[in-house]
Amino acid sequence: MKVVLATHNPHKIAEFQQIVAMTRPDLEVVGYDGPEPVEDGVTFAENALLKARAAAAHTGLAAFADDSGICVDVLGGSPGIFSAYWAGQRKDAKANLELLLDQLADIADPHRTAQFVSTIALVTPEGIEHTVAGVWPGRLAREASGSGGFGYDPIFIPDGQKAPERSVGEFSDEEKQSQSHRARAFQAFIPLLATL
Ligand code: IMP
Repeated sequence: MKVVLATHNPHKIAEFQQIVAMTRPDLEVVGYDGPEPVEDGVTFAENALLKARAAAAHTGLAAFADDSGICVDVLGGSPGIFSAYWAGQRKDAKANLELLLDQLADIADPHRTAQFVSTIALVTPEGIEHTVAGVWPGRLAREASGSGGFGYDPIFIPDGQKAPERSVGEFSDEEKQSQSHRARAFQAFIPLLATL
């Protein structure tokens, strides 16, 4: 079966390809190079739907899109949908991460809890729409470590690790793709694909 992945983010394409290869090797995920909508939704689900609708309309195929971000408890869930441009519209991942660390400089470890969240939307050419979400709980480190992944990975320490705990920046691709918010959302997404 062929589905369109509605993202221009090369990191997300690579991650989804790895997740799909591990869970649904029969699925052909094709990229999308059509117009991208303005992401003016106010939730992850709304923004994921905007992207999937645009790709389904443009290609005539079933399309899925993920909208994701990091939600910090002490910041009331921010950066949230603003994760990609927390330090400004230039979408500078290093500046985003440094601003977040600076904002939390005085916050003690027990209060540095955060979640990575991914919402995946599926839209069919007939206009049937679904969304599912995946959450990866953890906390923010005090400084960046590791060079793997992208975005906030070097400052996110997932829960449930044996000591010494590591940031996602220190995870292998396989480790991240087997437990990330995106992998968790994709697990919930698999039964939806079966309905196509
Ligand atoms: P989107 O492309 O509009 O969904 O924005 C996602 C933003 O959230 C990215 O630019 C990152 O800042 C952050 N983000 C989402 N998923 C991850 C992840 O797996 N690791 C690190 N940062 C992430």
